[in-house]
Amino acid sequence: MDIQLARHGFDDRIRWDPALIRKYDVPGPRYTSYPTALQFTDSFGAREYEQYLLERPPVIGPLSLYVHIPYCRNICYYCACNKIVTRDAAVAERYIVALEKETALLSRHFDRRRRVTQLHWGGGTPTFLSPAELTRLMHGLAKHFSLIDAPEREYSIEIDPRSVDTGTIALLKGLGFNRVSMGIQDFDPAVQRAVNRIQPFDMVENLVDAVREHRFKSMSFDLIYGLPLQSPASMEQTLAKVLALDPDRVSCYSYAHLPEIFSSQRSIDRMALPSADEKLEVLHTIIDTLTDAGYLYVGMDHFVKPQDELAQALHNGTLQRNFQGYSTQLAPELLGIGVSSISSTADLYCQNVKTVDEYYALLEQDKLPVQRGLRLTPDDHLRRDVIMQLICRMGIDTGETGERHGIDFGSHFAREMRSLDAMEHEGLLESEGGQIRVTAAGRPLVRNICMVFDAYLDPSRQRFSRTI
Ligand code: SF4
Repeated sequence: MDIQLARHGFDDRIRWDPALIRKYDVPGPRYTSYPTALQFTDSFGAREYEQYLLERPPVIGPLSLYVHIPYCRNICYYCACNKIVTRDAAVAERYIVALEKETALLSRHFDRRRRVTQLHWGGGTPTFLSPAELTRLMHGLAKHFSLIDAPEREYSIEIDPRSVDTGTIALLKGLGFNRVSMGIQDFDPAVQRAVNRIQPFDMVENLVDAVREHRFKSMSFDLIYGLPLQSPASMEQTLAKVLALDPDRVSCYSYAHLPEIFSSQRSIDRMALPSADEKLEVLHTIIDTLTDAGYLYVGMDHFVKPQDELAQALHNGTLQRNFQGYSTQLAPELLGIGVSSISSTADLYCQNVKTVDEYYALLEQDKLPVQRGLRLTPDDHLRRDVIMQLICRMGIDTGETGERHGIDFGSHFAREMRSLDAMEHEGLLESEGGQIRVTAAGRPLVRNICMVFDAYLDPSRQRFSRTI
């Protein structure tokens, strides 16, 4: 069944083919970067990063900043994030001092005139910080980087509805944020109890009203499918509530139950988890319900309203992807600030140390707290280009790609093309005149198509969530 027709000038159809979906439901990366963070190595550390920043030709153009706040007041059992659960609000003070130090050290390598067009605070729970701390942190960034108030800025913050009130929403707008992303996960009280994240509908509704009142440019909801006690019927009820609140964007993430890696997941009752088939049906319900309600499927489990600028970017072929998901812009350099945050430039990725103790120790010695990273090879650049085309444009222009990288696409990727031929035969792709297009049936499986071009995939080291 074609879930949605190409009614907005570009092809946003999805076709749910149960046999194909089952066949391709295997672990795989989400490709917020390529190569993925699994390839970062300790042989690329702070010294290599600083050397690179000192030697690179002057970079102009906008900047993107990401700030990681690792603290949370409560543990959500499904969580796989890098976080520290504590009720001690005093821990934030020292962390903010360290963030300010890191910001100052980093800023020496970046021209002060470069405008910060994208800013994202994630966690953990950024709103673990008090109003005074939120304000201090924003001012600390503004001291060293050119934050802007122009309407094209994308300044977003992740909100845990349990940790904010309507006053905080007003403050965030006043500080310059124009986008919020709310962790909803599921509105069913039984599911919320099973994952230890209780947030009644009224609480979220109140905040949504405040977000509207303060005229944020975009409000996004995050949902998770595959949680204990979820069923297609329970998800229908959650989605009815989501639609009543009318977010601009909805992202839905697959829950991967890996209790051997993430200790908090051991508190989840394994017997209450939906079966693999039920989980797929929950996703099917999400896709059906959101697209029937008029949302467009952007790709990788992201849905937007047709008037949202992401939909326009998809339409214009300018959609981008970064560590926070899809975006309309891609600044040439992204600086990650805070524990575990990732930075990227044209030629490298690097990641900060993952514990606050290491983070504080390095900053006390005036060192950048970078732990690992990698320099991209020409082959990484080429494969990243192909994978980003698939994710953002649902296709590959083999001629243009070959020209950009000085290769003959067909012969360079002879092995990969054989895999694509098999996928074309199954109906995931179609190709004509050097253009490869992901079909309606292939769109839910685009991660699997990307995996064909991933030179590092090693099935024996899989630590990814499943692709569906
Ligand atoms: S899901 Fe978010 S709020 Fe919950 S423990 Fe993890 S990081 Fe904290």
